[in-house]
Amino acid sequence: MPRADARSPDGQERAADGGRLRGKVALVTGAASGIGRATALLFAREGAAVAVADRDADGAAAAARAIEDAGGRALVIACDVTRDADCRRAVEETVQAFAALHILFNNAGIIRRATVADTTEEDWDLTFAVNVKGIYLMSRHTVPVMARGGGGTIVNTASNWGLVGGARAAAYIASKGAVVLLTKAMAIDHGAAGIRVNCVCPGDTDTAMLRSEAQQLGESYDAMLRGSSNNPLGRVATTDDIARAVLWLAGDAASFVTGAPLVVDGGFMAGQP
Ligand code: NAD
Repeated sequence: MPRADARSPDGQERAADGGRLRGKVALVTGAASGIGRATALLFAREGAAVAVADRDADGAAAAARAIEDAGGRALVIACDVTRDADCRRAVEETVQAFAALHILFNNAGIIRRATVADTTEEDWDLTFAVNVKGIYLMSRHTVPVMARGGGGTIVNTASNWGLVGGARAAAYIASKGAVVLLTKAMAIDHGAAGIRVNCVCPGDTDTAMLRSEAQQLGESYDAMLRGSSNNPLGRVATTDDIARAVLWLAGDAASFVTGAPLVVDGGFMAGQP
């Protein structure tokens, strides 16, 4: 039930009532920066206790401080999602601190801008280890906890490059395609346990990753932003644009949505004008 003060005089809940995840516990990977950080902060503003997991421990601590400064509850977890022991510990520490785990946002990711001819074997393996295996590892420890608790929701970060191809990002695009189908496989396997599994497919978003892409391609960031704004809405996504979509997928508003890729890309995927 929404709080009485969360309703406007006409009885409608206000968009910014801040209570959509009240009583929930969320674990967010890649939460030190970009989309993960914005989503962790939004989850906390909506009432969730948030475990802030990242291999960047200082960045995770800063995100947790921002949550606590705004009156929320946070836990810092230094965690490399490519390591099974780290993922197991992340789930255990979350449950120990907050007594439950209702929402897992598998968001940590990396990109290497190269063709197959230019991608080193090490970069190929690392891209799949972070972007795909990391989701498998975090989920394998989370699903039993959610199932015991009567259900939960998992949101994976894919990309619009999990649905269409693009230039000079072969390992990344292959990994994000895998995330989209892993999401569907997990949705089928765990629906009966009350666990919904969806993925968000962002278009280009103004984060450290996009800056790194510009650098890898030898472009200025301004040129990158201009190219990334080539969509019907004429701008690059903000991290909050993506976080709001993740909140919707993670929350009860999406109660009958599972196995779905949600494209949040300013219409880029709609096609050519
Ligand atoms: P970002 O670089 O700002 O954040 C990524 C975070 O993941 C960082 O804090 C980093 O430390 C963390 N991370 C990387 N490897 C990790 C590991 N092994 N273990 C734990 N944490 C690790 O980038 P972002 O743009 O916010 O990216 C978040 C997700 O969004 C990624 O999965 C990315 O592929 C996806 N995405 C981004 C864009 C974009 O344009 N920025 C577009 C589509 C999808």
